[in-house]
Amino acid sequence: MDGATAFATAAPLPGEQFDAVIVGAGAAGLLLACHLANAGWGDKVLLVDDGSHPLEQRSWAWWSTGSGLLDQAGSTAINHLWTAGTGWRQRMALDPYVYRRITGPELSAATDRLISARPGYGRAVAAVRALAPEGAHCRVVLEVPATGGARTVEIGARWVFDSVGPAVPPDASESPAYLDFHGLHVEFGTDLFDPSTATLMDFRTDQSAGAAFVYVLPSSTRSALVERTVFAFGDTYDRAAQSARHEAHVVEYVTTHISAHDYRVTGREVGTIPLQAGRPSRSSGPVIPIGARAGMVKASTGYGFDRIQRHSAAIAARLTRGRSPARAAPSHRWNRALDQALLHVIREDPGTAVGIFGALFTRNPARRILAFLDEDASLLDQARLFATLPLVPFARAQAHALTGSRPGRASAPTETLPQR
Ligand SMILES: Cc1cc2nc3c(=O)[nH]c(=O)nc-3n(C[C@H](O)[C@H](O)[C@H](O)COP(=O)(O)OP(=O)(O)OC[C@H]3O[C@@H](n4cnc5c(N)ncnc54)[C@H](O)[C@@H]3O)c2cc1C
Repeated sequence: MDGATAFATAAPLPGEQFDAVIVGAGAAGLLLACHLANAGWGDKVLLVDDGSHPLEQRSWAWWSTGSGLLDQAGSTAINHLWTAGTGWRQRMALDPYVYRRITGPELSAATDRLISARPGYGRAVAAVRALAPEGAHCRVVLEVPATGGARTVEIGARWVFDSVGPAVPPDASESPAYLDFHGLHVEFGTDLFDPSTATLMDFRTDQSAGAAFVYVLPSSTRSALVERTVFAFGDTYDRAAQSARHEAHVVEYVTTHISAHDYRVTGREVGTIPLQAGRPSRSSGPVIPIGARAGMVKASTGYGFDRIQRHSAAIAARLTRGRSPARAAPSHRWNRALDQALLHVIREDPGTAVGIFGALFTRNPARRILAFLDEDASLLDQARLFATLPLVPFARAQAHALTGSRPGRASAPTETLPQR
């Protein structure tokens, strides 16, 4: 069964009115439906998805201390993480954090459990074709599948939470940034993994096309996803040309660093994650952007699930207090500026960026690193963390943000671990 249709109710009737229509049942739509239902807000809420991005093929990983509503809904929980680079390797105990992974079907089932307690909530299979704000309400034009074709149905909503709308126009001054990942699902002939320990970032892989790292997520003692990711920038990175090399580098990692020769590739995960460097979409009257298009994917790491979860919680909290959800923000502007600055360093000077990650992981306790990456670190902890990093590249990135000037690009992306 398609995950998007797991809790499908009857198609909405022409002219039917809702407290909220949620457009898209991906990470943001599902998480928001969960938070609204859990908060007991709204008598009629409709979650609409056209099934164009099936949940069966999707999963999200994130770390948290367990306070998020969906933190316990995934089946994977990791307590230790390896990080490594040339000349260093270390295993971090994550407590109080846990690195979690939830699959699309798990998230869909958790959503169904929460919304089934609210009789006015429903999910529908339909494509949203147009949103027309009219004062404090919005007309929503749906294309609903029907025998012999599709039919158009217009409904109304006080609020529309939109994870689909037009993409954010790219920042014209910079080429698009994205993560290019190539993963192999591998089964090994012997026990090699502790399933409660993953490798978050191992930089011991070819860095010639840009800052790159390998991620290893075991699913048993003998199987794992081994995935290589390159920070890619449109003006310097040729994705087609890199694709064959990408796989060769994953295989090289398996033989060199996992030290395995007896293995079988059972599947592949290949794709890109856009790293949004431009401005997120803004609310327009009753239409509130959510998810990736609302700028919830972190510019420097591509993680978005936890920010989306916090945004959903903030929206639900404001609505239950009778306030507009337009101003719900999951993180402080300062944290977003740091995130953008780190992406800028990765773009302009990949070698230094790899060194920054190395310094981050080797000179700070896990709790401080994860709180920082999670945008939860206190000012004191941020100051302690920055004291361990080479600050000049950050200062240059901030200067770029203020003046628009482009610092000279470093030519050779070699890994250097900065000296204390
Ligand atoms: C390949 C990839 C892997 C990622 N992995 C992680 C990760 O592991 N951890 C993490 O924290 N972040 C991750 N992210 C970043 C971010 O969390 C995800 O992009 C997240 O799915 C964004 O949620 P969203 O709801 O905005 O978009 P989506 O999850 O893409 O949801 C959009 C939904 O809208 C539906 N839709 C599209 N058009 C219409 C229409 N016209 N009408 C109705 N429905 C429509 C689609 O079917 C889809 O279900 C990843 C991103 C990508 C691209």
